[in-house]
Amino acid sequence: MLLKGARLASFDPPRLDEADLRIEGERIAERGQPLAPRSGEDVLELEGAVVMPGLVNAHTHLYSALARGMPGPAPPPRSFVEILERVWWKLDRALDADSVRLSGLVGAIEAARSGTTLLIDHHSSPSFIRGSLGELQRAVEEIGLRSALCYEVTDRNGREGRDLGIEENVTFARERATALTRGLVGAHASFTLADESLDMLARAVSDTGSSLHIHVAEDRADGEDCRARYGGSVVDRLDRHGLLASRALLAHCVHLDPEEVQVAHAKGCWIAHNPRSNMNNAVGYAPAAALRRAALGTDGIDEDMLAEARVAGLKMREAGRDDAVPAALQLVAGGHRLAAALFGLPFGKLDAGAPADLVVLDYRSPTELHGDNLAGHLLFGVDRSHVRSVLVAGRWIVRDRRLARVDAAAVFARAREAARDVWSRMAAV
Ligand SMILES: [Zn+2]
Repeated sequence: MLLKGARLASFDPPRLDEADLRIEGERIAERGQPLAPRSGEDVLELEGAVVMPGLVNAHTHLYSALARGMPGPAPPPRSFVEILERVWWKLDRALDADSVRLSGLVGAIEAARSGTTLLIDHHSSPSFIRGSLGELQRAVEEIGLRSALCYEVTDRNGREGRDLGIEENVTFARERATALTRGLVGAHASFTLADESLDMLARAVSDTGSSLHIHVAEDRADGEDCRARYGGSVVDRLDRHGLLASRALLAHCVHLDPEEVQVAHAKGCWIAHNPRSNMNNAVGYAPAAALRRAALGTDGIDEDMLAEARVAGLKMREAGRDDAVPAALQLVAGGHRLAAALFGLPFGKLDAGAPADLVVLDYRSPTELHGDNLAGHLLFGVDRSHVRSVLVAGRWIVRDRRLARVDAAAVFARAREAARDVWSRMAAV
């Protein structure tokens, strides 16, 4: 396939160049200006459309896809821990195989329509643990996206729930990797995991050669619990159990101080920054200025990384940073570096050898657009409504605004029924 006449945008460093791309199999085979069509080649004339690398969501929860519009508990939760106990830990317990699969389909459809091509998910369904990651994988691969999946191990569902969660992570990471999918080892958070459980997670990480994906200091309560029960910070505790050395992905880190962030980075850890979720839960603002090996995540709010990047930039500006716009784009590029570390492929590049994961945008700017102001356009101009077509691993998953593989209306109709059942099961517990 030959994509002709594109304006190719890449973020690290920000660049915009007119060039053609030849796609062969799952990769970009050639980049040039111009490239001559070969006989029999499928040629797509893009006429100056902007093409960017597919976006990466570094921390999400597909299982929350059926929670949109869900009635909140009364009286409203008064703390972050109450939000978990009275909303999310009721929702996840109400999920079964059907609702897990539909959550995955709905979330992946929303991602595809937003130009998000890789989801790093953190899954929980305590009533349906064994086989849950396989259900999610089938759903996400049916839409055609890439993902890195894990099961959220916790002690809150007893020893059996914990052991099943670890087994699910290990089995999935060992047996289910494909071109589109990787397995990580998921853990909820320090405050729901005893020392014995952390040691078991460390073994799961080393047995699979995979990485840990865990919530860290999302709310003040996580760090306070850690200091009171174990002495020291969450970062210290995870390090004592050998859990940081695996390129661990630490979500949130709102209540780490910059020195603790440095320690985590020095161990090779990645940090997922989720500004909209942090605002929604009123947990505070992460030390964004200290983040280096970092990427943006939506934490399940939706799968729209353009919306997340815009808010990330606005929050940085509100915090007084002059470099907010380029810094927010750097976090988007951080998603590509993280994906490259997980998949061993050069994501984020639109060059020969890179994975053919890209987004064609219907973005006609009323002002000039070039590499020097690309960040400003991406944060203040481009949004999901501009996504025309999406290619993942060389295959169209959205083509001219239509999902290529599924009937979204039919999936959403089934999802509405499943959501009604999940909400009524939640009300019954
Ligand atoms: Zn999360």
